[in-house]
Amino acid sequence: MKLDGLDVAIAGAGVGGLALGTMLTRFGARVTLYDQMEAPRAVGSGFVLQPTGAQVLAAIGLLDPIATRGRRIDRMVGRLKDGGKPVLDVRYRSGEFGIAVQRVALFDVLFEAARASGVTFEASARINGVEPGQQARFVFVDGRRSAPADLVIDAMGANSPVGNRPDSELSYGALWATVPFPHGGAFQENLLEQRYHRASRMAGVLPVGTAREGAPDMATFFWSLRTTDYAVWQKAGRNAWLDAVSKLWPDAVPLAAIAEPVHARYRHLTRQPVIGRHAVKIGDAWHATSPQLGQGANMALLDAASLTSALVHAEDIDAAVARHLRQRQMHVRSYQFLSQVLTPFYQSDSRLLPALRDHLIAPITTLLGIRAIISTLVTGDLLDPVGRLRLSQAFGSETGVRVHA
Ligand SMILES: Cc1cc2nc3c(=O)[nH]c(=O)nc-3n(C[C@H](O)[C@H](O)[C@H](O)COP(=O)(O)OP(=O)(O)OC[C@H]3O[C@@H](n4cnc5c(N)ncnc54)[C@H](O)[C@@H]3O)c2cc1C
Repeated sequence: MKLDGLDVAIAGAGVGGLALGTMLTRFGARVTLYDQMEAPRAVGSGFVLQPTGAQVLAAIGLLDPIATRGRRIDRMVGRLKDGGKPVLDVRYRSGEFGIAVQRVALFDVLFEAARASGVTFEASARINGVEPGQQARFVFVDGRRSAPADLVIDAMGANSPVGNRPDSELSYGALWATVPFPHGGAFQENLLEQRYHRASRMAGVLPVGTAREGAPDMATFFWSLRTTDYAVWQKAGRNAWLDAVSKLWPDAVPLAAIAEPVHARYRHLTRQPVIGRHAVKIGDAWHATSPQLGQGANMALLDAASLTSALVHAEDIDAAVARHLRQRQMHVRSYQFLSQVLTPFYQSDSRLLPALRDHLIAPITTLLGIRAIISTLVTGDLLDPVGRLRLSQAFGSETGVRVHA
């Protein structure tokens, strides 16, 4: 269908909302993007853009500016305490790699693209409901309604107030901090490294490149923490934390010493993607997981591309929504399932699961065929989610990739 003049309202200026707004305005839609924040901004530290998410960004010409700020990641290695036995070693398939980026870098590029393509922003707009229908609207917390739209999208993330809110908080979250990358030290620039003690302790260092041209090279340092232990951690103070870090991973102590960590809680939930007629959820508002498999931002980008491509190829909005669900539902279900199964092996109080991980699963994952399956899982490529979207047909030619080095 022609998107010229289609009125679209999106709630949530995160990864999914910004990407979708940019795509739809480029096809001629009139997009208004609402967010609760006074001024849209990035929240969080850094993450890995997998080949799936990278292909979506390439299709809309935004991969280059993001890749030049990020760091190419070729391998993920997880070891037991203090440089011990490797129990996870994931390499990308030949010719593929992840791109680790600071959230602020991805946000700036997406926000600028959305603004340049003509998206209208409404800040300080806190939404708590949707009225679906031929002319759908958002309902704000003060009871006001947004202007009627042909299509409304909930991209408000895991804490979206729309739809059912099952008790979905996971028992473990993590402290996240962005710190200067320690060049010449114990860490490699193309490696995501993790250390584990059972499943109750996990730390990681991810090189994430620069926030903008000329800015210093940074790393994300994360430290898992039972959510109910956060207050105890705060009270115990930095020296107690440094002591715990030195027992798990002495090389990471200098990073923890200068970190200003933020505590993140994780949710695992899958909501109904269709709110009602002409009202749909994308990204974490539809499917949130722990970041263990590192797919969330990539999934939000895939949702945005899928909905856009479905609108372009279908005859009307109802057919486009049905097509979008056919393109995305199996992939979403598969990763929700895998994340639910795998997260407790890395973040839980279980003694059995990490023992199985270290003594049974780790040796199996070194087998060639199994290695290839794990690479497919990590790249997000299980069930070929990008091929289904026919991106080049919807968006035109793709751009090349240059990664900051
Ligand atoms: C600590 C951490 C680490 C992660 N690491 C990775 C990783 O390595 N790889 C990966 O791919 N993913 C990772 N993720 C997941 C990833 O961040 C999310 O999956 C992704 O940001 C989801 O995008 P989204 O657009 O759906 O929602 P979000 O990016 O969460 O954006 C939601 C937006 O909605 C707005 N909003 C919320 N409520 C309202 C309201 N009531 N009214 C108006 N606006 C509202 C918010 O202000 C925000 O701007 C991680 C997540 C966390 C928490």
